[in-house]
Amino acid sequence: MVAVTVEALVKRFGETIAVNNVTFTAESEKFVTLLGPSGCGKTTVLRSIAGVEEPDGGTISVGKTVVFSKSAGIMLPPEKRGMGMVYQSYALWPHLSVFENIAYPLKVRKLSKQEVKRRVLDVVELVRLSGLETRLVPNLSGGQQQRVALARAIVYNPAVLLLDEPLSNLDAPLREEMRAELKSLQRKIKVTSIYVTHDRTEALSMSDRIIVMGNGEIQAMGTPQRLLEDPPNSYAGMLLGGMSVVDGKIIHARETSTEVEMAGGRLLCKGNSDLKEGQPVKVLIRGPRVRVHETARTGSNIFPVLVDSVTNAGLFIEYKLKLDNHLIKILRDPLEGTLSEGKEVFIEIPSDACVLVRE
Ligand code: ATP
Repeated sequence: MVAVTVEALVKRFGETIAVNNVTFTAESEKFVTLLGPSGCGKTTVLRSIAGVEEPDGGTISVGKTVVFSKSAGIMLPPEKRGMGMVYQSYALWPHLSVFENIAYPLKVRKLSKQEVKRRVLDVVELVRLSGLETRLVPNLSGGQQQRVALARAIVYNPAVLLLDEPLSNLDAPLREEMRAELKSLQRKIKVTSIYVTHDRTEALSMSDRIIVMGNGEIQAMGTPQRLLEDPPNSYAGMLLGGMSVVDGKIIHARETSTEVEMAGGRLLCKGNSDLKEGQPVKVLIRGPRVRVHETARTGSNIFPVLVDSVTNAGLFIEYKLKLDNHLIKILRDPLEGTLSEGKEVFIEIPSDACVLVRE
């Protein structure tokens, strides 16, 4: 398999700069996710790689082959790029059967009838659709349709698989099941995959590497674990880790601990030798590690807060707690009791529950 390299990619739509100087490499056989909110440019990056969108600048290479280069005037058509694409809408032909839908890319490539049959049946088994070959697509469930779309994208052994929010039309339990299935299929066929989503759970559970996008630019990149443990900025911390952000200023920066002045008092965090005394910082707080005390407490890293809102989030209750003019989001097991809106409680922020970043 091959790596996909995107360098200094730019795409404008009129006044809108959809993609602004985006550079990254999806290494061979890896699962790379472009994650970001609606409108951040992730689909435009994917469509540029696929060749269905012509960028205004930059270079895209697949292995050693340059498939797009503005300066060299190269723009290979999609069918010459050796890529499979799976869309959010599946884009299947409703009047064709499962077999015919999957066989389509092979017929276009003029493979023999026997070879088409062999390859389609192999891939049908791989995506667990055996027995449904003759069924028309509208008579399949959402999950089965998604598997047909996936099978059609991989049937001609593409070097690269591009996936644009392929699971977002499925209901929650099926989405979870398909996440695991998709990831295990990708491992099995070892295809370099680039996946677009706005869903952080999908990104965290499937990716070898996540590229966090915002405003047409890359805001952070790394393995899921690294980005979760040590987000490089508040944007990545909020988007990936659901962390809360409080403004602060460094009082003391030491190897072992860093003291920050923030709303409500002083906070001791882990050591961070990159920061200087007097420097303004953002304090990222990991909600699940924050402890809540219902009776008054004093001590280090304990702050009085007001319960601002209470939301039932399935297995947990999500609270937004007001610390001065900042909101801190925490999750709590309903068995620990419910806190009512407006109540004063005390939060204890362990030093490993906070990360200090510059912006
Ligand atoms: P979503 O998750 O909603 O698809 P996205 O992160 O994939 O969002 P893009 O679809 O890449 O974002 O869009 C990036 C920006 O470019 C947006 O402001 C969008 O409105 C604009 N845009 C995308 N396609 C076009 C187009 N064909 N014409 C005009 N503007 C476009």
